[in-house]
Amino acid sequence: MPDPRRFMKMEEMVEESGISRFTLMPALQEGRLHGIQHVPRGKWRVERTCFEAWLTGEECSHQKAKKEAKAA
Ligand SMILES: [Zn+2]
Repeated sequence: MPDPRRFMKMEEMVEESGISRFTLMPALQEGRLHGIQHVPRGKWRVERTCFEAWLTGEECSHQKAKKEAKAA
């Protein structure tokens, strides 16, 4: 069973989902898909749970928390 907290690389997301990086990249840059970049223009790392949420059209727990913090 895959570790849900594990970070995925771009290549892994492409391989697992069959979604191209040209779709994934704008989603990351626009924040629709929650990812982390350690350095500007660096490689993206995405938690598996965030990626799976995005695949199903949901917000990940981090995005939800952010929205709630803003609304409060
Ligand atoms: Zn997230």
